[in-house]
Amino acid sequence: MIKKKLVLSFPEKVVTKPITYALVKEFDLVFNILRAEITPDMEGKMLIELRGNDQQIREATDYLEEAGVAVQEAAKDIMIDKDGCVDCGVCTSICITQALTLDKKTKKLKFNKDKCILCELCLDCCPVTAIKVNI
Ligand code: SF4
Ligand code: SF4
Repeated sequence: MIKKKLVLSFPEKVVTKPITYALVKEFDLVFNILRAEITPDMEGKMLIELRGNDQQIREATDYLEEAGVAVQEAAKDIMIDKDGCVDCGVCTSICITQALTLDKKTKKLKFNKDKCILCELCLDCCPVTAIKVNI
């Protein structure tokens, strides 16, 4: 039995379908939804943890991709280099879960790890490469 964290991206046309139900029913996997978010343009993002064997997880991943769901292995952690960050706020407009925000008073970047779904969308946007991923 292994554990794997995946980031699932559901396009609008499949966002309301009970696709994850099949992970249990068809592939006999145990899964936990760690975080989930629907973006303003109706794309669903979900961070899940799967438990099962290699083959079950591989087959379930194929099933999800065939159903139109983008599957990405989750990074372990996102880190902000506080010394490098210049609080420009660019990343806050990319972050769909609002894990990255600018403090209204101090104008400093705030990172709420509990809201981060490890989608890695913010990685390439930082002009001073202050956002790092721990894989
Ligand atoms: S990886 Fe970056 S963009 Fe994605 S939720 Fe976390 S902080 Fe936001
Ligand atoms: S884009 Fe980079 S420099 Fe700008 S606020 Fe985000 S982490 Fe800081």
